[in-house]
Amino acid sequence: MHRAHPALIAALLCFPLALFAISPLPADGPPASSGWRHDWARGAVFYEVFVRSFADSDGDGIGDFQGLTAKLDYLNDGDPVTTSDLGVDALWLMPVFASPSYHGYDVTNYEGIEPDYGTLADFERFLAAAHRRGIRVILDFVMNHSSDQHPWFVESAAAPASPKRDWYLWRGDDPGWTQPWGGANPTWHEKNGAFYYGIFWGGMPDLNFAEPAVRAEMKRIAKLWLDRGVDGFRLDATRHLFAGGPGPLQNDQPETHAFLRELGAYVRSVRPDAVLVGENWTETAAIAAYYGSTAAVAGGDELPMNFNFPLAAALVLAAATGDAAPVAKVLSEMAEAYPPGVIDAPFLTNHDMFRTATQVGSDVGKLRVAAAALLTLPGAPFLYYGEEVGLENGPGSDDRYKRTPMPWDAASGFTSGTPWFEAAPHRERANVAAETGDGGSLLAHYRRWIRLRQRLPVLAQGGLHLLSSPRTSSPLLLFERGSGAHRLLVAHNFSAAPAEAAIALGGVPVFLDGEGRARRSERGLEVSLPPYASAVFALE
Ligand code: CA
Repeated sequence: MHRAHPALIAALLCFPLALFAISPLPADGPPASSGWRHDWARGAVFYEVFVRSFADSDGDGIGDFQGLTAKLDYLNDGDPVTTSDLGVDALWLMPVFASPSYHGYDVTNYEGIEPDYGTLADFERFLAAAHRRGIRVILDFVMNHSSDQHPWFVESAAAPASPKRDWYLWRGDDPGWTQPWGGANPTWHEKNGAFYYGIFWGGMPDLNFAEPAVRAEMKRIAKLWLDRGVDGFRLDATRHLFAGGPGPLQNDQPETHAFLRELGAYVRSVRPDAVLVGENWTETAAIAAYYGSTAAVAGGDELPMNFNFPLAAALVLAAATGDAAPVAKVLSEMAEAYPPGVIDAPFLTNHDMFRTATQVGSDVGKLRVAAAALLTLPGAPFLYYGEEVGLENGPGSDDRYKRTPMPWDAASGFTSGTPWFEAAPHRERANVAAETGDGGSLLAHYRRWIRLRQRLPVLAQGGLHLLSSPRTSSPLLLFERGSGAHRLLVAHNFSAAPAEAAIALGGVPVFLDGEGRARRSERGLEVSLPPYASAVFALE
């Protein structure tokens, strides 16, 4: 997969013995490479897709791989010159392994594609079509638990003497634990006269990661999909892999960190250019711990990317309220807690949250500044499908209302048949067809900011130095990106009123959104931003 550099080949031909003498392979442990080689992910823009809701090719009302493949040019047509595509660098596919549920977070076969979505051949054609356009693809890997209909669990539950008994967690009595995030739902469930552990619900029994055969099996499955060509995994519920007791002992256990180190080393040995993105829905300091040691492995020896839940909440709160201080507060805490050089995974909302448009009342100004802020942050920002056209939540609290069909147009663009679930409100205005070709639309705004990120390597890959106060309410979020001679100043106005700031720095505007203005004076850079506008300056 990696073509050797001609000079290296020459060196190997001329000095094979000398080279082997100075670089002996380790006797055990990861062979050829012990470090990550996924610099492609630093600064990349990811797009989360729910295949069931994206595009239906055969009229059965269910999105599928042929439908997704047909829409790839919308996401990225592979031509950097065109500006009619969104321009994302990578896709995260929500679960696509075989599953009895609509969402797929309870897997019955980790090696096979969900038949609703097509065949393995359909998946492989999709993957090849994505790669031809330069789009990387990561899969949701739900290893914390399986479906209770998975053959492993059926066998495990059948009898205490079953060879698969220890693949899950069993005991004779119910210890009365409840879910660690609150409420009264139990985490031990009765079956055939014994109790098994399932942190989410009885239909999702947790696998026992203390069992070496389970760890070996999950690594084998990871390798299977990496060998099939996927570029990494989004790992579901990683902070719950081990449970050491009731309440918070069901989160963030030392054994969990140890297993993630083991998994990280294994994935690096198989595909050092792969990424692992952890779902650890918790506070900044606890998330930071999931990178592991950057001294042992550059980028982190556990999960080299982790979703930034506190920053997501702060970005949407800032857009909703007009006060940027919550964002500055999280950025300031990250500067303290995050190891140097790691890749953050910021986002606004995902499939478990009320959509941004609904949280801000579909105010286009608020959606614009939230998007611009997200797309000027370090790391790999993740968009949730439909967010780029202002897709709202459906009118209910059921998770399906967060995962409604993609609004390709005002009518039936998702399917020629009956959609598997009802469309969200206001698709007559918030849809791809209506916003394509309208330079003032939210979709055009997303396209412009993604293009800018790709045009300015410092915006994609540079570090962040916060200029805003994390303690003082302000409509403005101000930060620098990059260092030395390559620095950018980024300013976002989260409020409904114009905002001004004087910054004691010299610079020139490189991107002014919404008719923002900047002039140089004896005070430095005087920035004036209309409501919900953003600006980027090259600092001198
Ligand atoms: Ca279909």
